[in-house]
Amino acid sequence: MTPTHLLFDRIDEPGLNTLQGYEKRGGYSALRKAFAIPQAAIVEEISASGLRGRGGAGFKMGQKASFLPKGEMAKYLVCNADESEPGTFKDRELMQKCPHMLIEGMIITTFATGINHAFIYIRGEYELQADILEAAIAEAEAAGFIGENILGSGHSLKLVLHRGAGAYICGEETGLLDSLEGKRGNPRLKPPFPAIEGLYAGPTLVNNVETLATVPTIINMGGAEYAKIGTEGSTGTKLVSVSGDVQRPGNYEIVLGTSSREIIFDLCGGPKPGRTVKMWFPGGSSSPVLLEEDLDVAYDFDTLAKAGSMLGSGAIIVVDDTHSALEVAQKLTKFYAHESCGKCVPCREGTNWTHKMLARIESGEATPMDLDILASVQTQIIGNCLCVLGDAMAMPVGSIVAKFRDELEAEIEAASERANTVPVAPVQDAIPVGAH
Ligand code: SF4
Repeated sequence: MTPTHLLFDRIDEPGLNTLQGYEKRGGYSALRKAFAIPQAAIVEEISASGLRGRGGAGFKMGQKASFLPKGEMAKYLVCNADESEPGTFKDRELMQKCPHMLIEGMIITTFATGINHAFIYIRGEYELQADILEAAIAEAEAAGFIGENILGSGHSLKLVLHRGAGAYICGEETGLLDSLEGKRGNPRLKPPFPAIEGLYAGPTLVNNVETLATVPTIINMGGAEYAKIGTEGSTGTKLVSVSGDVQRPGNYEIVLGTSSREIIFDLCGGPKPGRTVKMWFPGGSSSPVLLEEDLDVAYDFDTLAKAGSMLGSGAIIVVDDTHSALEVAQKLTKFYAHESCGKCVPCREGTNWTHKMLARIESGEATPMDLDILASVQTQIIGNCLCVLGDAMAMPVGSIVAKFRDELEAEIEAASERANTVPVAPVQDAIPVGAH
């Protein structure tokens, strides 16, 4: 399989993280082109490209931008660089190796939407990437790409990098906005959606790193040309982070619609010799699991949804047959129970209940009926939470319970037998009668 490189074009070239290196590769040519066309036409190009958000929800970027009210007012662009979904590490590489691509995409987007204030909210653990971005922003400012009347276009922009403090929930757009405002990162009730009432109660466009970094490519190629790549409903290329039981884990750029088997086996080498794919998460740890028999499914938004899962953040996690379904479910649940902000009951109680019920299986206290209760708890969480965190645990755990029911029942039986076996003291250790 030959990978197609748009975002990862010469990504490992030394110096690409500097302004000089980026301009040598044609960087900031899209910005000059964008300044020469009307603002509305830029949004039209993005719409024509069919670009869907690369952060998880897959919402069309052009449509999202069009929701912003027109006219003179304080509006904001926020780049979500929190990348907190387990298994996802593609934005990290993009920001580290080519930070100006993101910055250029943000400048074009702010020009197209009439925004003069932009933020990059980066997760606290990404210290190196934050330092690189800070240096790149300073370079872009010094070169006149950020600031007042950029390249004589009349467009002005202030771009601020903000470091988060390490919470999964700050990757949720409204939790992120609260955190950016200096509050505890709690998700907000929607509506109002950020496009109407977001940061500091102003209209706010929130986009992921990869989404914004794709904008210069779309302007250079033209939206219609970009839309020819991939499938009708999932255009373009996608960065995928592949981890778990594969021989060549890492970030890869693939054309949307490529077979998942090709990604996992041809690009990543598949599991180690002698092992098989037991289950795989197509879109991060919050996506429902798929099985080995699903490997030929096309990797795109619509096909994965039809297969009962989702593309999510593009993080493929492969689990081979050396792991138990219980172990996988427990790891997931522990994470989400810890990260729940506690604001709504189905998530706060549901994640903890699930964690405890899985522990009951392990300790031998559960009966097969507990699996029905476990499945029912997941169903009651899905769609009943304030944000997506509750669903993020309930969807994969629910799918594991449904797809590995026999294995979990066998686990319940084996654990119960272990627990009911009273150890008999060896004769030589028995306390002699009258010893006390
Ligand atoms: Fe908080 Fe969970 Fe409710 Fe989201 S779903 S608001 S993380 S309690």
